[in-house]
Amino acid sequence: MYTMGIDIGSASSKVVILKDGKDIVAAETVQVGTGSSGPKRALNSALFKGGLTLGDMARIVATGYGRFAFEEAHKQVTEIRCQAIGNFFLIPTARTIIDIGGQDAKAIRLDDKGYVKQFFMNDKCAAGTGRFLDVMSRVLEVGLTEMAEYDAKATEPATVSSTCTVFAESEVISQLSQGVALENIIAGIHQSIASKAAGLAGRGVVEDDVVMCGGVAQNGGVVRALIRELNRKVIVTPNPQITAALGAAIHAYQDMEN
Ligand code: ADP
Repeated sequence: MYTMGIDIGSASSKVVILKDGKDIVAAETVQVGTGSSGPKRALNSALFKGGLTLGDMARIVATGYGRFAFEEAHKQVTEIRCQAIGNFFLIPTARTIIDIGGQDAKAIRLDDKGYVKQFFMNDKCAAGTGRFLDVMSRVLEVGLTEMAEYDAKATEPATVSSTCTVFAESEVISQLSQGVALENIIAGIHQSIASKAAGLAGRGVVEDDVVMCGGVAQNGGVVRALIRELNRKVIVTPNPQITAALGAAIHAYQDMEN
């Protein structure tokens, strides 16, 4: 039996097709989210990769910010629940999930069965989210995928103290004009994101294992900064952007089984 999970975010669209609730047959990420062609493109590409049609899907669960805009879905489930299911499936020892996406950041606590015990979310402010990095990447003219490499070369990370993205952008522009090295500015930006995420997680009890997911988990500089901030190991799964879509596909399978 095939089930599908689709995670329609603010920044990207992710689809996972699952066979019998456990084998990933196809996964696709398109880096544009709700309100764009992203969901349809991710859907079609995943079906193509798997050699399947929509008719082959026994059930489809949608999650993410744009989950109600996807007509093909049989059900909508929150991203918090889907992140819990997807990450727990991959890492059964996960007890704390830190998810940094395009426009929000979440810290989720799990019990030993993978159920959500508690969660904290910042969806009020772009600072501490992927949007902050997107803005900085543009200002610094360094691609998102290159930022971790610069960070690794930092000798004296700059301080990015503004708690607002707009002010932080001015702060970074001013550091650039003062000749602060790009790698030190980038390390400061990563540090600022990580300290906000650690603060969010720290509203509850941070228990091991800590798993980081969301698009920003692909930035090794943020992951390293988070490890320093939490002073603990942080696990990142091989494709951390698709874990909510995976959770949605597992949820769809469980619905069929029950
Ligand atoms: P959402 O679910 O809200 O759409 P995602 O979890 O997909 O968000 O995260 C999107 C963010 O991830 C982007 O804003 C960007 O900052 C970051 N991102 C996406 N791809 C990469 C990458 N390859 N390397 C580093 N950061 C990335």
